[in-house]
Formats: sequence, C-alpha cells, structure tokens
Amino acid sequence: GGRVEFRDVRFAYDPARPILRGVSFTVPAGQTVAIVGPSGAGKSTLSRLLFRFYEPQGGQILIDGQDIAAVTQTSLRAAIGMVPQDTVLFNDTIGYNIRYGCWDATDAAVREAASLAQIDRFVSALPEGYDTPVGERGLKLSGGEKQRVAIARTILKGPPILVLDEATSALDSFTEREIQDALDKVSRGRTTLVIAHRLSTVVNADEILVLDKGVIVERGTHQNLLDAG
Ligand code: ADP
Ligand code: ADP
Repeated sequence: GGRVEFRDVRFAYDPARPILRGVSFTVPAGQTVAIVGPSGAGKSTLSRLLFRFYEPQGGQILIDGQDIAAVTQTSLRAAIGMVPQDTVLFNDTIGYNIRYGCWDATDAAVREAASLAQIDRFVSALPEGYDTPVGERGLKLSGGEKQRVAIARTILKGPPILVLDEATSALDSFTEREIQDALDKVSRGRTTLVIAHRLSTVVNADEILVLDKGVIVERGTHQNLLDAG
C-alpha cells in the first residue's frame, strides 16, 4: 500500500493570500515523486497538509483511496516517515534518538538501522551540548551525521510512505552525495515525496512536479524537464 493522491488541493494560511491553488498529483505505491520550485512556492505546505497539521480548504488528500480527513494525526505519523531539513536531537544517546517513537525495537534492530545509515560507531554516544556526565565530553555531530540519525530512525520505523524535505540542502556536495545514496536506499520500494529546491538532487524521481505560486506549472521526468529547457 501507500499510494498518495492530492486532488485539486487548495489552501491559504490567510484567506487573502492563496498558497495552493488547485494542486493535483499522484504518487503511485512504491514510486518517488519530487516537488521542486522556488522558495515560497508552497512545497512545505503540501507536506504539512499530508500530516494534517492544517486542513485543505478545497479538494482532498487520499492515502490508498482513503481521505485523510478521516485519519488521525497519530495514524498518519505511523504511516509516514519524515526526514526533515534540520534534525533536532533529544537529550540522550544516539541510540535513543534512533529508537525514538519506535520503543519496541530490539537493540539489534537499532544497531542494524544505525549500520545502514553508517553511524553504528555513535550508537552509545551522547551528542555535544546535552547533559553528559560530569567530566565527559559530548560528541559533536556534523549536519550530515545528524541527518543520518533521522535516516536511521526512519529505517527502523519502516513506514510505507516517506517525506524527504529538502533533505540535503544544508550539506557540502560530498556529504550531499553520500546522504543522497543513503536516502535512495531508504526510499527504494516506498512511496516517496521529495521536496527539493534543485532539479539536480532529484534525478532518479519517477516524476518531477514544478510548483510555482501554488500551481503545478510543469511535470515530467528529469530528462523531459531538461529537454523542455
Ligand atoms: P516552500 O516550501 O515552497 O518554500 P512554503 O510552503 O513553506 O513554501 O510557504 C509558502 C508560502 O506560505 C510562503 O509565502 C510562506 O511565507 C507562507 N507561509 C508558510 N507558513 C506560513 C504560516 N504558518 N502562516 C502564514 N504564512 C505561511
Ligand atoms: P518548517 O518549514 O516550519 O521548519 P518543515 O517543512 O521543515 O517545517 O517540516 C514540516 C513539518 O513536519 C514541521 O512542522 C515538522 O515539525 C514536522 N515534522 C518533522 N518531523 C516529523 C516527523 N518525524 N513526523 C511528523 N512530523 C514531523
């Protein structure tokens, strides 16, 4: 399962200023659709609506044919994994941070997720700036390493649907390449909605939608869009 459909979705934070003006697209189960477009286009708003942080004022959002208006936020959070732009760590070990929200997971499962995200060496470490025991230093994690914590958490949770929010935008190009590989692994076989600034980070998407001022202005594969210039 995990087919996601937006049908003529309309939304405004302020009635005088529409943000989404009739957005329709489908992410078939197991496929990847990327939304690209300039800052302010409404991309993050789409993901907030998918989590029901806000309700659309027109149209519908469906998961496997069911309108999410009838689904609780708790169920949506179980069905949809999110790798956000900035990962905020909790005041505990990296292992705890990976397990967060997935309390039944065994230590072995946490280690395996950490290993797939290539942070297994950090599992029992405490991040810098948190309540480390007197005399001990916390571990300073880079932006890429923090993102790997979010990736490991998502691997452990194993949701059918993924939202990747501009997941590599804050990283240098080498780290970005590495994180992109990790994300490609996580999204394989899952329904994935990628929110991105640049076409170059979404080469492998099954479909790319270009959102501008709340409407989809172009759609196609990476090659189609390059050909269209
Ligand atoms: P994108 O992700 O494409 O950069 P967003 O969906 O974050 O765009 O924002 C679209 C527009 O909605 C922007 O003009 C932004 O300023 C506005 N906006 C975002 N969040 C809010 C909010 N909570 N209240 C009012 N306006 C908002
Ligand atoms: P913003 O632009 O306001 O920083 P984002 O677009 O980065 O927000 O994130 C969209 C929303 O998803 C945020 O409100 C964030 O709190 C929420 N979010 C982040 N991680 C998760 C998660 N694992 N599950 C559900 N919601 C999440």
